[in-house]
Amino acid sequence: MTGPYTFAATILTLYPDMFPGPLGQSIAGRALAEAKWSCNAVNIRDFATDKHRTVDDTPAGGGAGMVLRADVVAAALDSVADDRPILAMTPRGAPLTQARVRSLAGGPGTIILCGRFEGFDERIFDARPIEQLSIGDYVLSGGEMGALVLLDACIRLLPGVMGAASSGVDESFETGLLEYPHYTRPPVWEGRTIPEVLRSGDHARISAWRKLMAETDTRLRRPDLWERHDGARVNPPSGAHEQTKEE
Ligand code: SAH
Repeated sequence: MTGPYTFAATILTLYPDMFPGPLGQSIAGRALAEAKWSCNAVNIRDFATDKHRTVDDTPAGGGAGMVLRADVVAAALDSVADDRPILAMTPRGAPLTQARVRSLAGGPGTIILCGRFEGFDERIFDARPIEQLSIGDYVLSGGEMGALVLLDACIRLLPGVMGAASSGVDESFETGLLEYPHYTRPPVWEGRTIPEVLRSGDHARISAWRKLMAETDTRLRRPDLWERHDGARVNPPSGAHEQTKEE
């Protein structure tokens, strides 16, 4: 039986044994054992109709590789479809964002289509309400790793999974910025100290420093994020690294 917060993940894949895989460990694994989420991996091959259990065929128009058949994928999808959003992993999809992760985590779960070979017959995306998502501008051999990434990001946000830490409004991307850098003991390591402000006990100064670092690091490391961030025009950071550099 599932609890009130169960986030139901159904993964359509040619490699169901890849699930829960790494999500059976650590935070996600504990949450799975506690039924805070569920994991159901469905083999697309079970929906093939010929005796060879064929799921793919050669690309129309020619070219390398194989394409996942729309009829087989649709049959697999239709067998599990309900009120959950249906996602497909593809490098042609919209880049996955923390905002999308957060909205998915607040819903009933998700159905994830994992591609293989050259990907899906495009007609599946016209025929069914599927949101295409990419986990980044590089090419994987299959959608399974993408599904694991997406699920990991969602699961840590589920109620009771990470406790106070997951409310983390400071975390990278939650504010449209990267998070500020962290330090811990020992106070001196290989001659390097922790920024003085973090040892000051002055909470106002600490939070001002963290804000400045988040802004400065975002501007330097991720000008694309900084460009989109509201603070970019009104509050240009300057000199954060110079001020905190340790001799
Ligand atoms: N021929 C395709 C790549 C296919 S890779 C192209 O050039 O666009 C095989 C499968 O891996 C895809 O169908 C998709 O499910 C998955 N995949 C590859 N890269 C991905 C990415 N960046 N994000 C999400 N899924 C990806």
